[in-house]
Amino acid sequence: AATIYYENDADLSHLKGKTVAILGYGSQGHAQAQNLRDSGCDVIIGQRPGSANYDLAVSHGFKPMSIDEATKAADVINVLLPDEVQGDVYRQQIEPNLKPGNVLMCSHGFNIHFGQIEPPKGIDTLLVAPKGPGHLVRSEYEKGGGVPCLIALGEGAAESTKQIGLAYAKAIGGTRGGVIETTFAEETETDLFGEQVVLCGGVSELVKAGFETLVEAGYQPEMAYFECMHELKLIVDLLYEGGLSYMRYSISNTAEYGDYVSGPRIITDETKAEMKKILTEIQHGEFARKWISENRAGAPFFKATRRLEREHGVEQIGRGLRRMMTWIDEKEV
Ligand code: NDP
Ligand code: MG
Ligand code: MG
Repeated sequence: AATIYYENDADLSHLKGKTVAILGYGSQGHAQAQNLRDSGCDVIIGQRPGSANYDLAVSHGFKPMSIDEATKAADVINVLLPDEVQGDVYRQQIEPNLKPGNVLMCSHGFNIHFGQIEPPKGIDTLLVAPKGPGHLVRSEYEKGGGVPCLIALGEGAAESTKQIGLAYAKAIGGTRGGVIETTFAEETETDLFGEQVVLCGGVSELVKAGFETLVEAGYQPEMAYFECMHELKLIVDLLYEGGLSYMRYSISNTAEYGDYVSGPRIITDETKAEMKKILTEIQHGEFARKWISENRAGAPFFKATRRLEREHGVEQIGRGLRRMMTWIDEKEV
């Protein structure tokens, strides 16, 4: 079983006298920075001007500076920029300003694990990753709780860096929920696998295929939307609260029987073999290489696919149907 750290395993004094730079005032940046400050830490913000996030940092009482300046002024530097820009920003604005003894942090291991960020000797790397979006990291902390976190030490990092990581996790509220020990490899590879195979790739294709099957068989797209997309939320809420057993307890016996007899015909040995292939590609860095070169080329496949996917039938019908459900806080992109 995993090693889990709680409040008494972490000591805020390991951050005493150290300046923490939060680079990027987005989802994670705004939450972690404010929690750190409320926990008594010395926090500065590296955020480019001319954006809503810059104004937000100012309205929260920070004096944002450039990424170069913030890196220079800090002992602990947390890179909370979008993963696909971190490599370039690191080389241009962070690396030239690092000093021996600095600790370089992140909330997702992609760039460090796949070699897009390679800090020089004398700089330890450390991951503290909240298992939730920034707004929850902030709101739970304000309520006196905290979102559980992961912690991982980079290769060759000192024991004192782990103490800094635990103190950091405590300062953002993580040890109130629990901090699970992992490695950069495990965090990065399982994160990519989960989003590709189950959460995003798997679910999107499952919804589309189910919707298409009903519509092609002559059923009304409105019906197909409700059965194959809308009701997913009910199921996911049950899973979130009580796992598969509680979901199956809560649905009808007919639905539960159908789950057992038809589910294994949809996710077959062949599907699982493909999952293993995807995992291998992630582990060998093939996925990372493709995603990095896609971005270098201006993301043509990514942008074209995004456009195409927005026009899928389930999306067209959904836009209209969601307007009928006034309690839904409707989002459009
Ligand atoms: P966001 O997209 O919310 O914020 C990104 C920040 O980076 C913004 O302040 C943005 O500023 C700035 N930024 C974007 N591009 C550049 C650039 N080219 N140069 C300088 N600054 C730039 O990011 P997240 O908070 O979602 O993600 C940050 C990290 O946290 C990632 O590693 C992610 O994987 C990880 N993470 C995210 C979670 C989440 O729920 N969101 C959960 C756990 C981990 P501007 O407004 O100027 O564009
Ligand atoms: Mg991810
Ligand atoms: Mg039904």
